[in-house]
Amino acid sequence: MFDSLNDFDREASDIPRRPHKRPSYPHLWAFMCASPGANIGEKYERMLSDIAAFKNLFATQCSKDFAVVPAFPFTFFGAKIKLPDDSVFTLDAGQVNTKDPLSVENVKKLYDYVKKWDENRDRDPNTNNIPPSSIIIMYVSGDYIENDGFTTGYAFGNELPYLIFLTNKASSDTFAHEVGHVLNYSNKNGPKDDPDPASPPDKPSHNKNEGNLMYKEAGHTITQAQCAQFSESKIILRSHL
Ligand SMILES: [Zn+2]
Repeated sequence: MFDSLNDFDREASDIPRRPHKRPSYPHLWAFMCASPGANIGEKYERMLSDIAAFKNLFATQCSKDFAVVPAFPFTFFGAKIKLPDDSVFTLDAGQVNTKDPLSVENVKKLYDYVKKWDENRDRDPNTNNIPPSSIIIMYVSGDYIENDGFTTGYAFGNELPYLIFLTNKASSDTFAHEVGHVLNYSNKNGPKDDPDPASPPDKPSHNKNEGNLMYKEAGHTITQAQCAQFSESKIILRSHL
């Protein structure tokens, strides 16, 4: 089931929440949501298959159970979100541009709004023992971000959660690639780049081998060095027991 949220006609706090059960194996606790124009399938098949493909990648190549787990049922946003300062954000790839200061400012406002809403869900006495989400994953309408990208991620200092946008062109490999960036970026021991990066100087966050998960165009091969570095991320939750 989708939860729904359109701030034009209802208050977020009115919606009852039941968190999902957390698995006993390592996982990332995510807020997963979509805008109406996002092509996610009638029964959210795309979101479910992205989650399944990610788990499969780690099970087969890192020999580990590791998953992105939606903390709550998928959230369905309205096409336009009215933010607390009365500005309106249209949830579309065309509105996301890391090179445009106004877009960055608007994305930050959207982020603050979603983050606050996500945190407020934890006030329910039935849910107050669960951690806040460490990644917000937003499926938006449109094909391209900044003319040619299928995705982009944001980190706001050391603040959690991280934020990932996925357009209609983003594949399951893209989903895993973006989460890979977040895992590297949140490495507790320091390195934020790929352990076997592209030749300097351009993009040390990307792998140099085509077909690799962290190649600039996401493939799905993961090396043992990448598995090891990913597992050092400080946002991985290990057990709720
Ligand atoms: Zn990348």
